[in-house]
Amino acid sequence: MTLSTTSTTPRQFAAIVLEEEHAAHNYHPLPVVVASGDGAWVTDVDGRRYLDCLAAYSAVNFGHSNPVLLDAARAQLGRITLTSRAFHNDQLGPFVTELATLAGKDMVLPMNTGAEAVESGIKVARAWGYRVKGVAPDAANIIVMAGNFHGRTTTIISFSDDEEARADFGPFTPGFRTVPYGDAAALEAAIDENTVAVLLEPIQGEAGIIVPPAGFLPAVREITARHNVLFIADEIQSGLGRTGATFACDLVGVVPDLYLLGKALGGGIVPVSAVVGNRDVLGVLEPGQHGSTFGGNPLAAAVGLAVVRLLATGEMQERAGLLGERLQAGLSELIGHGVLAVRGAGLWAGIDIDPALASGRAVCESLMERGVLAKDTHGSTIRLAPPIVVSGDDLDWAVEQLRAVLEELAG
Ligand SMILES: *Cc1c(COP(=O)(O)O)cnc(C)c1O
Repeated sequence: MTLSTTSTTPRQFAAIVLEEEHAAHNYHPLPVVVASGDGAWVTDVDGRRYLDCLAAYSAVNFGHSNPVLLDAARAQLGRITLTSRAFHNDQLGPFVTELATLAGKDMVLPMNTGAEAVESGIKVARAWGYRVKGVAPDAANIIVMAGNFHGRTTTIISFSDDEEARADFGPFTPGFRTVPYGDAAALEAAIDENTVAVLLEPIQGEAGIIVPPAGFLPAVREITARHNVLFIADEIQSGLGRTGATFACDLVGVVPDLYLLGKALGGGIVPVSAVVGNRDVLGVLEPGQHGSTFGGNPLAAAVGLAVVRLLATGEMQERAGLLGERLQAGLSELIGHGVLAVRGAGLWAGIDIDPALASGRAVCESLMERGVLAKDTHGSTIRLAPPIVVSGDDLDWAVEQLRAVLEELAG
């Protein structure tokens, strides 16, 4: 095992060794061992504090140990946590009702992880295609975007173009067509009579916070409606406040047929995901055709309901929007000082580091030494997605740390 920093302490080392020995090596974490968290800050096993500028890929939008969400979880822990959907539970009804209202839709299919929401959305779209649109059996196709990230299951990686995510995991699921992200003409050209859905991220997260051209999502909405094709927006990372709106689609006034939600829906406490849509689409599912032992469990529903209520006031979205302007303004001053480009929306930024200066990983390691946790993606890009409860001063401080790291690296 090699540790890339000199500051790893015995306690950290002990924890990391156990992980390296007995956890599969499907991640390459920064050498920090977190023991607790509060708001936007986490504390490691030696008591050092770090500003969390990743927020578990937006699963912790409302902060670590959010008191409102913890109260909801604790109250439900003392009542009942799992019934399976063989029976009704008293938490699911309120959760799906208020989530549907938040999304402006009629129905919710509750699942657990993001990948399950994506898989469920694909199944619903295919069933809708055969039963409602009248596509010939097993002929359905779904159009996806180059550079997409929708999760890690075998079907989902079948339409990824990230070779690392696919190598040695075939054979792959057929029925998907890839077009360039942001290219509405290519998308329309790919549609045929068997196309049941277009599946996309309104802003591509893992690809590096890629924001499409302003007219793209409205064009997708218009084209899909005209061809009787479902528009499925994967808002698992972009949704629930991150961009300064409830959904990233809201930023351009677009309403998809299905929202895929996850990550922050579980408040950073439990995995909660959902497909949200109207009865004419989600209503195709009948008893026995789809399910999940844990989907819609009372603990998940209680936490999910508390999350929906946090969002219903609009305060989180507004805060993300205002702090996001401050973050983007601070970051844009670094362009030309080791930064090639900054992209983003709300409290979500992708920063392209000059590869001649350092890799994204090296920048993240130096940021860690200065008490800021961030994550690199695709070599030289780093992303910032702090919890929305972060203070403006902490945000300014994080940008200062990045500036200092870049100055150090430039020598
Ligand atoms: C994280 C993510 C997923 C997968 O969610 P998991 O909970 O990790 O399965 C799907 N789509 C997008 C856009 C994501 O960011």
